[in-house]
Amino acid sequence: MIQDHSPGKNWAGNYTYRAEKLHRPSTIEQVQEIIANAPGVRVLGSRHSFNDIADSSELITLEAMPEDTVVDHAANTVSFNAALKYGRLVETLSAEGVALHNLASLPHISVAGAVATATHGSGDTNGNLATAVAGLEIVTSGGEVIEASRGKPDFDGLVVGLGALGAVTRITLDVEPAYEVRQRVFEGLSWEALFEHFDEITSCGYSVSVFTRWGRTADQIWVKSRVMEEPERVEGDLFGAVAAAVDRHPILGLDATPCTPQLGRPGLWSDRLPHFRMGFTPSSGEELQSEYLFPRRYAVEAIEAVRNLADRIQPILQVSEIRAVAADRLWMSMNYGEDTIGIHFTWKPEGDSVEDMLVQLETALAPFEARPHWGKLFNADATAIAPLYERMPDFIRLVERLDPRGAFCNSWLRAHVLSES
Ligand SMILES: Cc1cc2nc3c(=O)[nH]c(=O)nc-3n(C[C@H](O)[C@H](O)[C@H](O)COP(=O)(O)OP(=O)(O)OC[C@H]3O[C@@H](n4cnc5c(N)ncnc54)[C@H](O)[C@@H]3O)c2cc1C
Repeated sequence: MIQDHSPGKNWAGNYTYRAEKLHRPSTIEQVQEIIANAPGVRVLGSRHSFNDIADSSELITLEAMPEDTVVDHAANTVSFNAALKYGRLVETLSAEGVALHNLASLPHISVAGAVATATHGSGDTNGNLATAVAGLEIVTSGGEVIEASRGKPDFDGLVVGLGALGAVTRITLDVEPAYEVRQRVFEGLSWEALFEHFDEITSCGYSVSVFTRWGRTADQIWVKSRVMEEPERVEGDLFGAVAAAVDRHPILGLDATPCTPQLGRPGLWSDRLPHFRMGFTPSSGEELQSEYLFPRRYAVEAIEAVRNLADRIQPILQVSEIRAVAADRLWMSMNYGEDTIGIHFTWKPEGDSVEDMLVQLETALAPFEARPHWGKLFNADATAIAPLYERMPDFIRLVERLDPRGAFCNSWLRAHVLSES
């Protein structure tokens, strides 16, 4: 079992982990022993969160554990070491002819970290990535190994666990037969067309994103369609937005080489659903991110409320993305209970100005019951967040039951979740 002394920084480089130890166990027995002996501990995923959610006095990476990926064709599931990144997982899935229902904007993140924070892609009928979880193996703070599966008591509380319930060592996800997707980008969408045709636009493909800089037009629509189920759009425009004639990057003016192929060229689901390709730096690389998700019924009003702040947002913004996520029953999911729209912000790396902007954005979005993305930057504290999550009291009870000594409790959890304790 190897131990490093400096976990270093997160992906964006805006947060330096305070943990003094980073353990690298290679067996489940070692994971049990480390956890049972640690006063404070968390599992570190692929470090793509923008805040201190993953920090503690000691950290564990599960990257040295065997991948042990097993596809069960009869059950339509795949099980694997929870530290696996989506990019690696899809290699096995593709070889086996199966697929996941959706992916986030990049394949570089760990499955456990994505699931723990309710990370999502887009699509009116697509739940977030955590909704694909059919089973979990968790090492709790007493060093005990528990198995949980869909349909069992408390399962809906365990999945989006915010890293607070224990170390997730194995994950089982639903799979379906592999499918092909084609992607097209349409440019110059007007705000009037977006508001008038909002439902038609978000439902015009399997996964749809609107990228905007809150300027004169709403700008780009990225439409990802399943080749077999959805007819190709050939008219050349979409509610007045014109089909791009070359591949585009979501941030206008940036080289599109890191982006997944567009122009309607069919390809495997895993090569089209993320915006960014494995093997390339996703997004712009030098950035901060925030995202707020609110019930779909508020979509137009909430987007208008953000648009009213455009002149303050634009100087520090690289790009925003508007996505749809289907409702789920996972207690701590940002999509719990109702179909949801997310407004995402990729900021320039200007921490102080971004922090200031988040206060203004949260005030503007408060009437729309906006939930901040757990893995990104936000300002709201536990008192502001508690009313947004009906099952929060149940989640806090689950934390207390599985982790009575508070080993997985960190300052992020105390600040943003544990208002009742
Ligand atoms: C460039 C970029 C693009 C992104 N795109 C999207 C997007 O399209 N959609 C979206 O919703 N989000 C997106 N995100 C946010 C990202 O998906 C989340 O922050 C996610 O949590 C990152 O996973 P991670 O493995 O890096 O987690 P980390 O930051 O390492 O950890 C996050 C949390 O997961 C917990 N955790 C990790 N592994 C385990 C485990 N094995 N057991 C228990 N707890 C664990 C940690 O303790 C921590 O609480 C993006 C982030 C970046 C940097």
